[in-house]
Amino acid sequence: MLKKTIMMKNIIFFIPFLMIISCKQKKEVASQLVEDPHSFSKPSMAVVEHLNLDIKVNFEDQQISGKAVWTINNKAKSNEIIFDDSKLNISKITLGAEEKETTFNYGEEKEYIGRALKVAITPETKLITIYYTTNKDASALQWLNPHQTAGKMRPYLFTQSESIAARSWIPCQDSPGIRFTYNATVTVPNDLLALMSAENPEVKNTTGVYHFKQIHPIPSYLLALAVGDIAFKAVDERTGVYAEPSVLAKAVYEFADMGKMVHAAEKLYGPYRWGRYDLLVLPPSFPFGGMENPNLTFITPTVIAGDRSLVSIISHELAHSWSGNLVTNATWNDFWLNEGFTNYFERRIDEEIFGKQEAEMQEEFAKKALEDAVKEMGDTSKDIYLKTEYAGRNPDDGTNDIAYEKGYFFLRTIEAAVGRPNFDAFLRGYFDSHAFQSVSTEQFLTYLNENLIKGNADLEKKIRVNDWVYGPGIPSNIAYAKGLWAKGGKFSKIDSLASAWNKGKLTDTSILTKEIGTSNEKKFFINMLPQEMTVKQMTDLDRQFNFTGSNNTDIQLAWYTLAIRNQYMVADKRIEDYLIENGRMWHIIPLYKEMMKIPGGLKRAKEIYKKARPNYHPMTYQAIDKLLD
Ligand SMILES: [Zn+2]
Repeated sequence: MLKKTIMMKNIIFFIPFLMIISCKQKKEVASQLVEDPHSFSKPSMAVVEHLNLDIKVNFEDQQISGKAVWTINNKAKSNEIIFDDSKLNISKITLGAEEKETTFNYGEEKEYIGRALKVAITPETKLITIYYTTNKDASALQWLNPHQTAGKMRPYLFTQSESIAARSWIPCQDSPGIRFTYNATVTVPNDLLALMSAENPEVKNTTGVYHFKQIHPIPSYLLALAVGDIAFKAVDERTGVYAEPSVLAKAVYEFADMGKMVHAAEKLYGPYRWGRYDLLVLPPSFPFGGMENPNLTFITPTVIAGDRSLVSIISHELAHSWSGNLVTNATWNDFWLNEGFTNYFERRIDEEIFGKQEAEMQEEFAKKALEDAVKEMGDTSKDIYLKTEYAGRNPDDGTNDIAYEKGYFFLRTIEAAVGRPNFDAFLRGYFDSHAFQSVSTEQFLTYLNENLIKGNADLEKKIRVNDWVYGPGIPSNIAYAKGLWAKGGKFSKIDSLASAWNKGKLTDTSILTKEIGTSNEKKFFINMLPQEMTVKQMTDLDRQFNFTGSNNTDIQLAWYTLAIRNQYMVADKRIEDYLIENGRMWHIIPLYKEMMKIPGGLKRAKEIYKKARPNYHPMTYQAIDKLLD
């Protein structure tokens, strides 16, 4: 997922291993599964291989009901198979095509991870059918009332299975180390369209019954479903956009470069293996940035700025088609393998599409975010390590900048040590040799040693693998581009301009807009402004840049924070509109927090919130209810 910009979690990756084709002895088999503290299943005994799902979506009761038919491999000829379950109501379980009823029982309920569903099987069992209904509080199911959609006429449902919520809507072996293919039949009200993380329909039909097929083995956290008043438009022969009808044209314009991005990604690390790559633009109340569901990335509509300035979110979600979806973290303790690799790949795609300087600016923001995160968590935090320990906790708590940005800079540091061509060849080989498998941190490090470092003591010293993976904070050998801050570099120029402007030393302010053009440059400039500014200063800048009227949510968030702090009332109405129309959690909560710091601000925050709350997602309004209480 895309963190912050995304949600609680924002998403992850891999496990077993295939080999290097030329070297048969190296073939390690998928049975080499890594123990997952967030799943009760015992895949070394009996493991799922294929799902045939047949469900009905009921908006009145906010429930999904139907059956999950699992094809299994009873490797150990066991008398039991274990699934993960979170509050599902299971009415019956049968074995075989003849559907002979069998017995089942539950393990003890555990915080965060639910309970084990233990099903009696025979050594010969290949097929298990589980009849079930979801609970009203199913954590993966987000039911939106019409008010929370762009069209305001029809309800909407979307799922968010990552990290461990798939078990709340489908009984499954809910571990990123276990993969399976799936088919599904989904029945929905006949004025709505259903979509999944699979081959998808492009138009509604009159029956409301839709069929899906995912031919590649995926882990359970990539199971996804969306149901709503949704239309489709192709961008090119293999990419396209799904959105509510009122949003579709704008979305297609905004994401016109999708096809180019897929080509850029393929040029770097090999073929896109999933068939189509489409986007689903969620309703405004979608609380996150994006989620990399296979074939169909879910994204927030807040990235539709009208000028294509926020489309790098696509680079991130697209990159997950390799790092995460193709090669997946074995457990959530290896989350950095999903997100660190994806942030690296994302910036490489952005460099291809938007140029080196844009990618370097993103790296600069990333470095600042990482330093802030480490400072905020403190030296003694157990979460400032790449390899983490989330046993006994919700892995969603691991959604911080460490997995994303420390992971990124570790790879960036390897790149600097071995040179980009070598590192690219290594990554290409890594994705190819581990395609559709899951990988643990240790398995990755073994691969790194055998295929790149190869016992070279100089390289070992330069990279310091152990410091990065098993040490706290930020190792001192961190590599990053320094050109932006060098003499004549973009950031040092903007920094001096901001400083000169603040001291009133800039006689001709039109130089500001000449030097500061892209949204990353503007964001950087706003960040360089003093915390305290006069209304006159803010008015002058608005005259130059029209920050108050921007449609770019990154710039809006940065500028509106300053506007609130400095009681720049000109922006008040725009801030109100922004908070009412935008439901992306981490783009709105900071503004409410800022309001609470100024005299009379809490009252104003509550006034706006009263109007905005009906548009927000439950996860969002529960957080703000607490904040403003
Ligand atoms: Zn991600």
